[in-house]
Amino acid sequence: MESTTAAGERSAPASNNFLRSIITDDLKSGRYERIVTRFPPEPNGYLHIGHAKSISVNFGLAEEFGGVCHLRFDDTNPEKESQEFIESIQEDVRWLGYEWAGPVRYASSYFEQFYAWAIHLVEHDKAYVCDLSPDEAREYRGTLTEPGRNSPYRDRPASESLDLLRRMRDGEFAEGERVLRAKIDMASPNMNLRDPILYRIRRVAHHQTGDAWCIYPTYDFAHGQEDAIEGVTHSICTLEFEDHRPLYEWLIENLPVPSRPRQYEFGRLNTSYTVTSKRKLKQLVDEGIVAGWDDPRMPTIAGLRRRGYTPAAIRHFCEMVGTSRSDGVVDVAMLEHAIRDDLNQNAPRGMCVLRPLRLKLRNAPAQHLPLRAPAHPSRDDLGERELPFSGELYIDREDFREEANKKFKRLVLGKRVRLRNAYVIEAVDVEKDESGEIAAVIADLIEGTLGEDPADGIKPKGVIHWVEAGSAVPATVRLYDRLFTDPAPDRGSADFMSFLNAESLTVVEHALVEPALAAAAPEAHFQFEREGYFVADRQEHSAEHPVFNETIGLRDVWAGKGNTGGSQ
Ligand code: ATP
Ligand code: MG
Repeated sequence: MESTTAAGERSAPASNNFLRSIITDDLKSGRYERIVTRFPPEPNGYLHIGHAKSISVNFGLAEEFGGVCHLRFDDTNPEKESQEFIESIQEDVRWLGYEWAGPVRYASSYFEQFYAWAIHLVEHDKAYVCDLSPDEAREYRGTLTEPGRNSPYRDRPASESLDLLRRMRDGEFAEGERVLRAKIDMASPNMNLRDPILYRIRRVAHHQTGDAWCIYPTYDFAHGQEDAIEGVTHSICTLEFEDHRPLYEWLIENLPVPSRPRQYEFGRLNTSYTVTSKRKLKQLVDEGIVAGWDDPRMPTIAGLRRRGYTPAAIRHFCEMVGTSRSDGVVDVAMLEHAIRDDLNQNAPRGMCVLRPLRLKLRNAPAQHLPLRAPAHPSRDDLGERELPFSGELYIDREDFREEANKKFKRLVLGKRVRLRNAYVIEAVDVEKDESGEIAAVIADLIEGTLGEDPADGIKPKGVIHWVEAGSAVPATVRLYDRLFTDPAPDRGSADFMSFLNAESLTVVEHALVEPALAAAAPEAHFQFEREGYFVADRQEHSAEHPVFNETIGLRDVWAGKGNTGGSQ
């Protein structure tokens, strides 16, 4: 049974998709005893949310069917690759909760084998060295509507190609001077089969092999052979490789490879308001639009982590969107829903005042015993926290007005409000500074209202959050909005950079947090009551100077839409 829609996947998360069906059949028929998959990133950037989907598919299927998944760097383009990316990718995969079987693998560790197979192809009249310049080669290649023409070098003797290939390897020629091409069919309707390039000259050092090579295999000449060497059974990639599959199969058929992997394609995951191309993400980093690859506004795994996303939420989201045979765009609100749901259940509560306004209680003792409050309204296992209390508090400036109509369910002069986890108070007066701005609110504490309604029957209209002045800790709080203002920043003709949201980051320098929040470990998650979900920054947070990043607001736009489905 094939599952086709994302909505179907959501209602039955563990339901079948076409990959599960294929694997089930292969195991049933005895084609394989155990499946081997691989996640094959090119180390030319940080992983993003689309890669998380690929990781969850490859590692997830292996886990589910009792097989194994390899982590293999597809490092055949040394110019754009680096050790930093190799390390970040491993960290991100592990953080998502997956472990690869065996060592980290590298395409580059098979270079010598690829070269031997290149010789094999030439010896069997299946490949040749071509001397056409890149411009000439393009001309010979034909177009989608016209067949290509054979290169004049196509029929040169194998011995000549072998000699030239060896000399290419020895560094005798300049970049672009010669290439090794497969001899397939210049008239094929599939452009990938028109004598594709197998090796090109690149005079660059490689992060793994150093100066050992100046010729590098193309993606096509490397990928299937890597799979075959590793005994990969199901080589799962995204749809853009569908047209490469005939070439993948041609190479497997024409080479003495140790196993016969098969390639399967699924639709790329894209989310709205997001770019997920490493090139574009790199541009955001290089141009200083964001603070780095792990900026909390980035859709990278490292960025999502720093933003306060959890591995569980990302994995759940990847399962919810399903795995289909077509590309699509998923509403980013669905990802936001996944993290909000997780944090609502698991994040302890705390109070943070973003725009502090002093509140003086006329009748509270200067010294008051600390109050206690549950860390979570329905999770007793998360315990309690101590909440210092005194006659000097701070509330949020936006929670007080001298006058207001009935819709304003916060503190108004002459009216009552409940302080969250504490007493009911009544505002009686304000103090103003020279400029006329309110500097403090004077209020009375209504005795006997800790967890009780006022005895006089006059109930407060709302609840506001607060911190105690003497114990609150000044904190930096970063509020985030989407990085792009357009739902499809890179899918029209306009430059995606023209859709940057100028207000994607607001830094609140002088917020105040209750002591329990300041004491949090980096990467601890909280719901700041009435504000949203926040995480202690993994790089900069300390007890002395707390730094929190907003993960997501409280209001669930996705659930608000009735959960009728993404558009994938
Ligand atoms: P980008 O276009 O962002 O540079 P890529 O495809 O070049 O991505 P790779 O490092 O080659 O990135 O990808 C590793 C694996 O992740 C590949 O199998 C690829 O198909 C998969 N992948 C990349 N982007 C997505 C996506 N948006 N959705 C699902 N899988 C993806
Ligand atoms: Mg790629």
